[in-house]
Amino acid sequence: MVGRETSDSPEDRIQAIGRELFDRVQKEAQAFFKGDRWTAGLVGWSLEHEEAKLQLFRFVDVLPALRRDREVVQHLREYFGDQGGPFGGLARLGLILARFGWLGEKALGFLLRKVIRQFARRFIAGNTPAEAARAVKAAWQANQAATLDLLGEACVSEDEAAAYQRRYLDLIEHLAPEARGWPPNTKLDQATWGPLPRINVSVKLSALYPQFDPIDPRGSAEAVKARLRPILEAAQTHGAHIQIDMEDWRLKDLTLQLFMELADEPAFRGSRHLGLAMQAYLRDAEGDARRLVAWAKRRGTPISVRLVKGAYWDYETAHARLEGWPIPVFEVKGQTDACFERLTRFYLENAEAVDLALGSHNIRSIAHAMAHRERLGLAQGQMEFQVLHGMAAPLARALAERGERVRVYMPFGELIPGMGYLVRRLLENTSNESFLRRGFAAGDSPERLLTPPDADGGPRAAVAPQPSGAAPKPFQNEPRTDFARAEERVNFAKALAAVRQEFGRSYPLVIDGRRIETADQIVSVNPSRSAEVVGRTASATPENADQAVAAAERAFSAWRGVGPKERARILWRAAAVMRTRRAELSAWIVCEAGKPWREADGDVTEAIDFLEYYGRQAILLQEPQRLGDLPGEINDYRREPRGVVAVIAPWNFPLAILTGMTSAALATGNTVVMKPAKSTPVIAAKLEGIFADAGLPSGVLNYLPGPGDVVGERLARHAAVKMIAFTGSRDVGVRLYAQAAQLAEGGRHVKRVVAEMGGKNAIIVDDDADLDEAVQGIVYSAFGYAGQKCSACSRVIGVGSAHGRLIERLVEAVRTLPLGPAEQPATIVGPLIDPSAQKKVKAYIEEGSGVARAALVRELPGELAALGGYYVPPAIFAEVPPTSRLAREEIFGPVLSVMPAKSFDEALALAMDSDYALTGGVFSRSPAHLAAAEDAFRVGDLYINRGITGAIVGRQPFGGTRLSGVGYQAGGPDYLLQFMETRLICENTLRRGFASGRLAREEG
Ligand SMILES: Cc1cc2nc3c(=O)[nH]c(=O)nc-3n(C[C@H](O)[C@H](O)[C@H](O)COP(=O)(O)OP(=O)(O)OC[C@H]3O[C@@H](n4cnc5c(N)ncnc54)[C@H](O)[C@@H]3O)c2cc1C
Repeated sequence: MVGRETSDSPEDRIQAIGRELFDRVQKEAQAFFKGDRWTAGLVGWSLEHEEAKLQLFRFVDVLPALRRDREVVQHLREYFGDQGGPFGGLARLGLILARFGWLGEKALGFLLRKVIRQFARRFIAGNTPAEAARAVKAAWQANQAATLDLLGEACVSEDEAAAYQRRYLDLIEHLAPEARGWPPNTKLDQATWGPLPRINVSVKLSALYPQFDPIDPRGSAEAVKARLRPILEAAQTHGAHIQIDMEDWRLKDLTLQLFMELADEPAFRGSRHLGLAMQAYLRDAEGDARRLVAWAKRRGTPISVRLVKGAYWDYETAHARLEGWPIPVFEVKGQTDACFERLTRFYLENAEAVDLALGSHNIRSIAHAMAHRERLGLAQGQMEFQVLHGMAAPLARALAERGERVRVYMPFGELIPGMGYLVRRLLENTSNESFLRRGFAAGDSPERLLTPPDADGGPRAAVAPQPSGAAPKPFQNEPRTDFARAEERVNFAKALAAVRQEFGRSYPLVIDGRRIETADQIVSVNPSRSAEVVGRTASATPENADQAVAAAERAFSAWRGVGPKERARILWRAAAVMRTRRAELSAWIVCEAGKPWREADGDVTEAIDFLEYYGRQAILLQEPQRLGDLPGEINDYRREPRGVVAVIAPWNFPLAILTGMTSAALATGNTVVMKPAKSTPVIAAKLEGIFADAGLPSGVLNYLPGPGDVVGERLARHAAVKMIAFTGSRDVGVRLYAQAAQLAEGGRHVKRVVAEMGGKNAIIVDDDADLDEAVQGIVYSAFGYAGQKCSACSRVIGVGSAHGRLIERLVEAVRTLPLGPAEQPATIVGPLIDPSAQKKVKAYIEEGSGVARAALVRELPGELAALGGYYVPPAIFAEVPPTSRLAREEIFGPVLSVMPAKSFDEALALAMDSDYALTGGVFSRSPAHLAAAEDAFRVGDLYINRGITGAIVGRQPFGGTRLSGVGYQAGGPDYLLQFMETRLICENTLRRGFASGRLAREEG
């Protein structure tokens, strides 16, 4: 049938084969969707109701998590109570019937579950291995092979990963004897190169290791390979083929790399029954294909490639946009299709190295592959066609009829772990770009559907880098470093090594541009290895503080006169300097503050954001304003700087917060005495140097490291200090406030104090929450940077039945959370900042075991203890009494208290029963509960269905109320107002009955 050379051009052949395929499926075309009333209804309806479609998907998403019928009905009401369209109408009808008792809640709940299960069964082949075995056998009898996929992605603990591996092993062992009993089928049993295993399984690597993360490629690869090896061995023993699925772009390089390493191991090097999926929608796709083929040739035995377009398009585009990263996928559908065709040809041309399987439901893409197989004179069995269960059954049948080898991808498992998969299929079926939808729901003609891909439209420009201190483009956040890129990881490691070479240097005070040594020094050590001295800085005396204030006072009027635009330019130049020294600054933060890579990088991006954002805000806010518009008077309203600002900063965001407070003061025209925390004075010295390089005049910023109780207090009481910008602990903040309120001798003003203080932040996990998301969000918020952020989560409140399962999963997730020195890329929980923090947190843990159930208290491994860092391993306490110190006091360490609540309202009350009100979080899928939280969960920053740390300048202004702080939120539109005084100049222009203009005067 195929394998003959033809005189037609490939395009003619593509059209001919395409029409033939259309003819074959035509008789069943209606069945594409009409086979299932619900899918047909959904696809048709979603054409017209884009918004409501998403609402429906969210409802489908939450349904399996609801245990009681009453909850199902409640959610139905909340989701569709006011929706139009047939689905909304049906929902309302159900609710009316339930309300009048014609249909009990139980019956309605039951009905809905049944509908969703039926619907899911269209895409999911079964729940149990036995059901899966039946489905595979049925396919075999229908002349189609299968590949089985165990539903489940992104596990949160080693336990879950091990269970996933076990299920694969069971599956292979269970299926092998059964498969031997199936009747022979030459086409499915035999490829051109030899026999094919009857069992074929697809594996998602993210489910095999909870810390699968490209930031640590070696550690991740070793852990995943260790879990994958037994699966490959079982496959060899029982005669099975293993295909690795490809997930999101972030994991692609790592997946490719570890696949090649594993397939090169002596035990597997000779196996042809190994493969992976490659995605054509990636801009990297062709380079990766060349790399893979070159490697496969070296390996000597071919591997199999399932070429797909890619299933994560919506996620990849949205995620990259949020991060400000280049979008890794094509943005024009035709570009993906064209790339798919190029790759098809490339892999077919390298058939000696790659056994190609085409994973597509697009007749054009398929016909194109067939035409090129013919052109190259390859046999029909050289390539196989794969389709997804429930997606294109008529097409699969048509291909099988044509003599092709067809394999159906069959996921099986429970609906909750399968929801990610199901939602991807729903999106795919209802996407405007989908071939299936265009062909069989929207009714595009075969001619249109067969036209060659139109790659026009061109790739969209990647996010442009920020201007370096030039014209004020609209503010954009500085993208975080994408550690999925190898060059970024190399760069970071190099910077760490370079910074180590600079350890031990001395940094003097800088007052009025002069460098001043002091008798005493502050010795700054690496909290990960306390024997290492990062640097030594001068330690200011009260007299130095007076000198610094005097210098700032002298510099003030000139700096005020510079005007907001020129000041902003200096800030932007500082931002540009930071960009060029980004990895180096992060490396200092890793070493001096014990922050892991990602967090240190976030610290630097935030600092850059503050410089860019406040520069722009100050220009906006300090525009001259005229108030009132009446003849006869002119009212000039001005926002002007206050004078000398004392910036007293914490160690936990040693660059970001210091830069934030300092740049706010500078942008608005104040001069600054900057007192960094005693644990991180070296980074502060770097910041002073950056401002100097950016052209800040001498005296405008003075660097004054020193003991808080001496220098901090002197500044707080100083008559010439007009304002204190403070971030730190509640005790120090309250004390500074009191000191600042006392009128200093000779003082002529009352000081303004802006203080960001502590938090005792709670996350509520509702009964219906997505626990995968909740656990990940909580773990990162509570234990990232060892819990040393004011925004960190330290209380979790589990509502109803969510509570028990939540604790179990949290404990398992935290049990193996990477704890170690900050410079190791995998580390999530680094050291605490100093010995006194270590002692204090340990005391809380000891006390906790007496008042609550110690659900997890990890031990410090010997090798870490030997490093001499300030480590405290994570601890989780359950059933914590709400009145205990554990539940009330800020601990600032990796300690989490979990409490139950009977209802969502009780959870809200518990969350708000605190002296603090900084951040808070809610994981819920109930619109009514989320609305209640918006109203009653009154914290500075409330996060919904995400972690509660990592506020981004300009998007999530940060700061709390109650004892969490006084003042407007940092990084928000009002923050700078606090650094300014307002002044009004009113001039009478009414002269003898006529309104003249203002009297001529010098501008300035
Ligand atoms: C057997 C099998 C296994 C699979 N395994 C994987 C896997 O491991 N990993 C994986 O990611 N996917 C996998 N998929 C899913 C697959 O990626 C999608 O089903 C496929 O992309 C749909 O392509 P199509 O040719 O059938 O349909 P088409 O309708 O022709 O193409 C749809 C695809 O085009 C792309 N696209 C949509 N809009 C745009 C746009 N605006 N710009 C650029 N591109 C766009 C997307 O990739 C989208 O999925 C598998 C599919 C099959 C059949």
